[in-house]
Amino acid sequence: MTATDADVAVVGLGSMGSMAAWQLARAGADVIGFEQFGIAHDRGAAGGESRLFRMAYHEGPEYVPLLRRARELWLDLAAASGRPLFSPTGCLSIGRPELAPMANVRASVTEHQLAHEILDPDELAARYPQHSPAEGEIGILDTDGGMVRPELAVLSAARQARSLGARLHEHTAVRAIEPSGDHVEVVTESQVFTARTVVVTTGPWTGELVKSVVDHVTVKPIVLTWFAPDDVTAYAPDRFPAFIRDTDGIHVYGSPVMDGVSVKFGVADVWDPIDGARDLTRDLDATALRPVTDAARRFLPGLHPDPIRYDVYMDGYTTDRTPLIGALPGASSVILLSGFSGHGFKMAPVFGQIAAELALDGGSGFDLARMAPDRFALGTGA
Ligand SMILES: Cc1cc2nc3c(=O)[nH]c(=O)nc-3n(C[C@H](O)[C@H](O)[C@H](O)COP(=O)(O)OP(=O)(O)OC[C@H]3O[C@@H](n4cnc5c(N)ncnc54)[C@H](O)[C@@H]3O)c2cc1C
Repeated sequence: MTATDADVAVVGLGSMGSMAAWQLARAGADVIGFEQFGIAHDRGAAGGESRLFRMAYHEGPEYVPLLRRARELWLDLAAASGRPLFSPTGCLSIGRPELAPMANVRASVTEHQLAHEILDPDELAARYPQHSPAEGEIGILDTDGGMVRPELAVLSAARQARSLGARLHEHTAVRAIEPSGDHVEVVTESQVFTARTVVVTTGPWTGELVKSVVDHVTVKPIVLTWFAPDDVTAYAPDRFPAFIRDTDGIHVYGSPVMDGVSVKFGVADVWDPIDGARDLTRDLDATALRPVTDAARRFLPGLHPDPIRYDVYMDGYTTDRTPLIGALPGASSVILLSGFSGHGFKMAPVFGQIAAELALDGGSGFDLARMAPDRFALGTGA
C-alpha cells in the first residue's frame, strides 16, 4: 500500500468540513484539511452570526433522527469549547395548518414525540403579537429548537480538531482532487498531498472541483437583514423564539435579539441563482432589498422598517433540496457532502459524524438513501 500524508483529507473547512475534521480526529483518524480562506470567514454559507435550529421539521419528519443526534453534538461541542454555541430559545412555526410545511412540523412532533406546544389562532395572537398573524394561522412551538452560532461553531470545531491532532491548512486552495490507485491526490497551488480518502465539503464552490455536480448543485445568494425593534425587550429570547413562517407563499424566518440591538430576518427564495460562487454580488441597493423590507413591514410591524444592516451569503441547492452525501459515483475514495439547500447548518455536526463514518468505515448507521449522490446522473469521478 502506498504511504500517504494522512488517512483522510478534508477539502473546505466551512460548516461541514470543520465538523468532519473534528469528528474524524475524534475517531482517531490522521487528518489533514484545507481551507481556501481563513477559518470562519464570511464569504460562503457559514456567516451571519445565527442559524435556526429546528427539530420539528418543515422539510419532513424523516430528518428528526439526524436532528436529534445533531442537537446532542451541538451540546457536546459547546461543552468542549466552553462557548455558547446553542441558544435554546425554542422555534416557532407559523402558518395555516393545512400547508405542507406545517403538516410536516406536526408529523415530526407526533411521530417522534417531540416536546412542543400547539397554539390556536387566538393563543398565537395573544402570546406572540409581534408576528401579527393572519386569520386562521396557528403556531407550533418546538421547545427543543433554538439557534446556533455559525462562525463560533466553525472556529470551535476546527480548534477541537486541531487539539486532537488534525493539521488544518488555511489560505490553501485545492485546485484538483485526483483518485490514483489506492490513494487520492489533493493538489494545491504549491504542493501535492496524498490521503486514503478525501472528504469534499466545498459548499457553493463544489462545482469548481467536482465538475460532475455543476448541473445538480445551483448556487443561490441568501441575504440576511437585521432590523431594530422599537421595543427591544419584546424581541428578547424569553419572549420571542426563533421563528419560521409561511404566509401567502412568502417564507420568512428569523431570530430574537441576541446582540442587544436587532432582530435577524430573512425571506427565502427571493434571489435568482448565479453561475457560480465567484459571481456573488455583495452590494445590494434598496430595490433589491424590497422583498425583505416589504415582508418585514407586513409580518413584524414593530421593527423599524429599514434594516440597520444586511449581508449577502450563498448556499448550494439541489433540485429536491436534499443534500448529496456519499461516495462520488465511480470514485469510492471521494466522499461528497454538498447541496445543503439553505437548511444544512443545524445538522452540520451530525453530517460531520457521517462524513467520518463514510470515510473510515465505508457506511453510516443513518439512513442516507434519499441523499445518495447517484440519484442524479452525475457521471463518474471528480
Ligand atoms: C444566509 C444563510 C442563512 C441560512 N440559514 C440557515 C438556518 O437558519 N438553519 C440552517 O440549518 N441552515 C441555514 N442555512 C444553510 C446552511 O448555512 C448551509 O447549508 C451550510 O452552511 C452549508 O455548509 P457547507 O459546508 O456546504 O458550505 P460552507 O460553509 O460555505 O463551506 C465550504 C467551505 O469550503 C471552502 N472551499 C471551497 N472551495 C475550496 C477549495 N477549492 N479549496 C479549499 N477550500 C475551499 C470555502 O471557502 C468554505 O469555507 C443558511 C445559509 C445561508 C447562506
